[in-house]
Amino acid sequence: ALVPDTAKVLVVGLGTTGVSVARFLQKLGINFAIADSRNKPQLLDEFAQEMPDVPVFTGGFDEAAFQVATHLVVSPGVSLLERSIVKAVANGSKIMGDIDLFAAAVNVPIIAITGSNGKSTVTTMLGDMLKDAGIKAGIGGNLGTPALDLLDEHNQMYALELSSFQLERTSILRAAAATVLNISADHLDRHADMAEYASEKHKVFNGQGVMVINIDDPVVNRMQEKSRDTLTFSINGLADFHLAFKQGIEYLMYEDTPLMPLLALPLEGRHNAANALSALALGMAVGLNTQTMCKSLQKFKGLAHRMQRVAEIRGVTWVNDSKATNIGACIAALQGYERKVVLIAGGDAKGADMSELTPVIKAKTKGVVLMGKDAPLIEQALNGCVPVVLVKNMVQAVQAAAVLATAGESVLLSPACASLDQYKNYQDRGDKFANAVMALLA
Ligand code: ADP
Repeated sequence: ALVPDTAKVLVVGLGTTGVSVARFLQKLGINFAIADSRNKPQLLDEFAQEMPDVPVFTGGFDEAAFQVATHLVVSPGVSLLERSIVKAVANGSKIMGDIDLFAAAVNVPIIAITGSNGKSTVTTMLGDMLKDAGIKAGIGGNLGTPALDLLDEHNQMYALELSSFQLERTSILRAAAATVLNISADHLDRHADMAEYASEKHKVFNGQGVMVINIDDPVVNRMQEKSRDTLTFSINGLADFHLAFKQGIEYLMYEDTPLMPLLALPLEGRHNAANALSALALGMAVGLNTQTMCKSLQKFKGLAHRMQRVAEIRGVTWVNDSKATNIGACIAALQGYERKVVLIAGGDAKGADMSELTPVIKAKTKGVVLMGKDAPLIEQALNGCVPVVLVKNMVQAVQAAAVLATAGESVLLSPACASLDQYKNYQDRGDKFANAVMALLA
C-alpha cells in the first residue's frame, strides 16, 4: 500500500484539499494528524466538528508533529521549501500529494489537464463531453471538487485539472490521456524559475498514456516523445486537430475532416479555439466520438470571469476576464481582438516580467487603466507606448475606462496579475467590476 497501516501520517494544510485527504484517510482507517501554519484556518471549526478525534496543530508548524511523521501529505498551497518539511524529508519522511493517494485508489482511466491557462475551461468542456456521451465521470481536482472527494466506485473515468503544485508532489499518477495546454510565466514567486515550473508540469505525462501536445507552444512542443501515442493541436498551423477554411468558413478540423464551424463555438477569444481542440483530442484519446463531442462544445456556456461579456452600454462592450491572473492569459485575451480595446489591468504580478506585455498592449489597446500593487511595474514596462491612467479601485477604473472607450469598442478587464492585494479572490474582483459597470447605467 502507498501508506502502510503503521504509518504516522501528517496532513499539511487544512484547506479543501487537506480536508479531502483527511476524509480519505479516515475511511481507510489510517491514523493521522493535521498541521496548518495559520492560527485559525477558515475550515478549522467545521473540521473539528466533522472529525473531533483528529489532532490538529495550528499557529506555526509544530516541530514535534513533523518529527514523528513518516508520511507527509502536503497540500498544494504549502511550499515544499518550508523549513519543517525540508527537515522532515532529511529525516526520511516520505512526501506525497492528494493526487498520489487518488491515483493509487483508482483503476479506471484518468484524463489529466495542466498548463498555465485554460485548465478549468478544458476540464469543464471534457466534463460536458463525457456526460453527453453517457459516461459516468468524476470531474474536478484543482477546480471544483478536490480529487479525493470525487472517488466513487461507479465512476467509469475521471477528468482532473492539476496545478503545477499538485504535480510537483505527485509521483505515481499515470494518466490515460494528458495535456500541458501551454506554459507562460506564473507563480515564479513559488517556483525557482521557468525551467523548474515547466518540469513540474511535464510530470503530467508520466506513464504511457496518450500525450496531447500544443505545437503552438515551443516549450510544450519540446515535450513530445517519439515512442509515445500522441495527438497534436494548433490554432496557427497544421496538427492532428487544427483550424482551416473551407468555402470561406473557418472550421475546427481533425486531419482533413471539418468537425464544426469555429463560429459555432459560443466563446469569445481565439484561445478558446485552442481549448476546444485540446478537449477534442483528449476526448478522442479516451474513445469519445467527435460528433458527440462537437455537440457538447456547441452548447458550452463558458465559465464566469473568463472572457465573460458583462454588458453593452452606449455601444461599448464590457468584458470580465478577471481570471487572467498571469501575463499569458492577458496576452491571449488581447490577441483575440481585431479592434483596439481599453484594458484594465494590475494587481499582484507574482514576480513575472511585465515587459512581456508591452508589444501586445501597444498593438491591441488604445489605453490602459492600471490599479493595484504592481501598477507602477506595468506602467514602467509600457514606457509611454499607450496612454496610461493610474487608479486606486475598480469603481475608478471603470469610470476611467468609460471615458477612454467609444461606441463600437470593448473594455476588457484582464489584469495579468493576481487579485489578492486588493480583493478576496478573482471572483470578488470580477464581481466588483461587473457591479461598477452596471452602475454606469444609473
Ligand atoms: P486555468 O484553470 O488554467 O486558470 P481558465 O480556463 O480558468 O484556466 O482560464 C484562466 C484565464 O486564462 C482566463 O483569463 C482565460 O480567459 C485565459 N485562457 C483560457 N484559455 C487560455 C488559453 N488556451 N491560452 C491562454 N489563455 C487562456
